[in-house]
Amino acid sequence: MVSYKTPLGDIRIKVYGHASLVIEWNGKYIYSDPYSEVVDYKGYPKADLVLVTHNHYDHYDRKALDEILSPQTKLIVASDVPKEDERYSVLNNGESASYEGIAIKAVASYNINRRNEQGNHFHPKGVGNGYILDFGGFRLYIAGDTEPVAEMEQLGDIDVAFIPKNLPYTMTDEEFVKVANMIKPKYLYPIHYFELDAKNCEKVLNQTLL
Ligand code: ZN
Ligand code: ZN
Repeated sequence: MVSYKTPLGDIRIKVYGHASLVIEWNGKYIYSDPYSEVVDYKGYPKADLVLVTHNHYDHYDRKALDEILSPQTKLIVASDVPKEDERYSVLNNGESASYEGIAIKAVASYNINRRNEQGNHFHPKGVGNGYILDFGGFRLYIAGDTEPVAEMEQLGDIDVAFIPKNLPYTMTDEEFVKVANMIKPKYLYPIHYFELDAKNCEKVLNQTLL
């Protein structure tokens, strides 16, 4: 866990892997895109708040949610996530909410170039959310699955950013750097970089061994 001081008190952040992370603040646990393939959430603290950026299985994962939801948990989700019950609030791009004094804003998160075999964007514009969490002026940006998009110019000052990097769904290395330069966060966490070309690794490893 890494600690940061904010006007609303210290926060501690742990990135679990893929797009999953937790923010601990004042004894509360805010999970973002909890994903059971990277963590077994059994026995983890119950969530006070959960953010879901979009409905892909690696972001909206019922198995993970079943372990950490309590009757009191609030969820803030994108428009493509089913509103299972009253605990869920759907935010569209540009909409805001607040949680115990934290201002939360949903921002654009989408593909411009990357498409599936049918020619549709993996992440169509206006569906998924990035989130800005504002702890009294200390601002976190969770980008969601996105490419560099014009709306990122309007994010304002960002203290801590979580930016995805992988193909074919989000960004190339070059695009990741472009976004980092556009946003200029004080602290930057790359996330969502799961791809590993095992065959190529094996080849490189064999060459090294030879
Ligand atoms: Zn996705
Ligand atoms: Zn994803």
